[in-house]
Amino acid sequence: MSRQAGESELVHIAFDDTDSRLGRCTTHLAFKITGRLRAMGVKLVDYPLLIRLNPNIPWKTRGNGAVCIRVRTKDPDKVVDFVRQSVEEGSAIGAGANPAVAFLCGKIPPSLAKFSSIAMFDVLSRQKAEKVAKENGIEYFTFGNGQGLVGSLGAMGCLLESGDYTFELISYRRPENCGTPRIVDRNRVIECHGAFPDTFNSYDEKNKRVLIAPHGPDPVFCGIRGEDPDSILSAFSMLQPEERLDGYMVFRSNQGTNMHLQNLLKLNESKVYTAGYVRCRVKEKPQAMQGGHVLFAVEDGSGSMLAAVYEPTGLAKIAASLDTGDIIEIGCGIRKPTVKHPKVLNVEYIRILELACIFDVLNPVCKICGKRMKSEGKNKGFQCDRCKYRDIAATKVYLPKRRSIEPGLYLPVPKAHRHLTKPLQRYGKEKSGFRFSGLCRDWFGSGNFQASFGN
Ligand code: ATP
Repeated sequence: MSRQAGESELVHIAFDDTDSRLGRCTTHLAFKITGRLRAMGVKLVDYPLLIRLNPNIPWKTRGNGAVCIRVRTKDPDKVVDFVRQSVEEGSAIGAGANPAVAFLCGKIPPSLAKFSSIAMFDVLSRQKAEKVAKENGIEYFTFGNGQGLVGSLGAMGCLLESGDYTFELISYRRPENCGTPRIVDRNRVIECHGAFPDTFNSYDEKNKRVLIAPHGPDPVFCGIRGEDPDSILSAFSMLQPEERLDGYMVFRSNQGTNMHLQNLLKLNESKVYTAGYVRCRVKEKPQAMQGGHVLFAVEDGSGSMLAAVYEPTGLAKIAASLDTGDIIEIGCGIRKPTVKHPKVLNVEYIRILELACIFDVLNPVCKICGKRMKSEGKNKGFQCDRCKYRDIAATKVYLPKRRSIEPGLYLPVPKAHRHLTKPLQRYGKEKSGFRFSGLCRDWFGSGNFQASFGN
């Protein structure tokens, strides 16, 4: 990393894979590091970024999130030393984490931006990450097997400056409370959900499920997502958690933007663990399976594949109502083959583009008495059972069937959303760029904290 002495420099700091299933959390480490950077007088030039990468990566811990903090400082060396040490000390090394932390001064180079855009939907190797880092003068430190470098560069290269983005306020528990049940007032969550239409995925109305609080041993108390910092801060303030918290931080994020589903997949070229969307034709009538899941074959001109819609998504009924010849678009991830099935498209949304005309095939009606006639055998015409009228020239009648579904977009229920899934309420609200005009008041809270700001 090249540095200029004396001048205030733009430094991109990114890290990933600091946690394990037993505890810790990369966003919590980001909260701690940001708090210290602020105290050191370092200026942020954006909200800390929480970037979700390809959700189909099998070695992710939970939501495949990585973090990037962009700052201006006159002393990059001090920042590098402090952050490197914090990541080393604050990671679950030896307990499943393979952290990396990366630093870059100056502009984001195109090859890094490209690497990041691929990390949203494809699988990248550590060797590729090292090559991109070396080519661009990115200083990095890895621990464990170093796989965290992929996520670190994925986050660093994602500026979220020309497309869609959202915000999340994540609040953190004090160490002594981690591992105990989180007490979240359900009625207040429902109230916030109704009062702040610019927040999303706080409450699943259909399943009556609170979605803001995780259940594991990690230090996250709750996360509130929304379109802008003001609405999530107001919702958090209204929530009034009773637990004394360590603090909270507002992140800018690609969550809720469908960023992983932007590339068109061709069925004959689809690779396991990748994500994207497919425009295809339903090849045969979908069948409901045990457990309420639905499996059906689709084809796109390049090949055909099985698509799976799982019961918890709430999309199984729609999938089961599809029929041969329907033209659909599906957002999906490619599941690896198992002993029972070849690779399968795991469906994340269904957009019905065109419904095929499906016919009921019936015997003709008797011209004399109106009863439906019986076939006399192939090419032998039909005869009426009741009045015995025979009609050698009569043929089968094709009656168009009434379809129970309509063209349109069908999304999973909120409780089944991935972090990157764009919720229905965000369609039409997509942003088309970001210009940093300073951090909002109260974007960061720490120390013996109870949600009472702004009152
Ligand atoms: P949490 O959400 O709790 O922070 P996580 O689900 O983000 O955890 P990590 O512990 O960060 O999981 O592990 C994800 C690992 O996958 C990291 O090592 C990261 O570098 C790597 N990774 C992320 N995206 C890709 C990708 N597209 N290709 C290959 N590896 C990836």
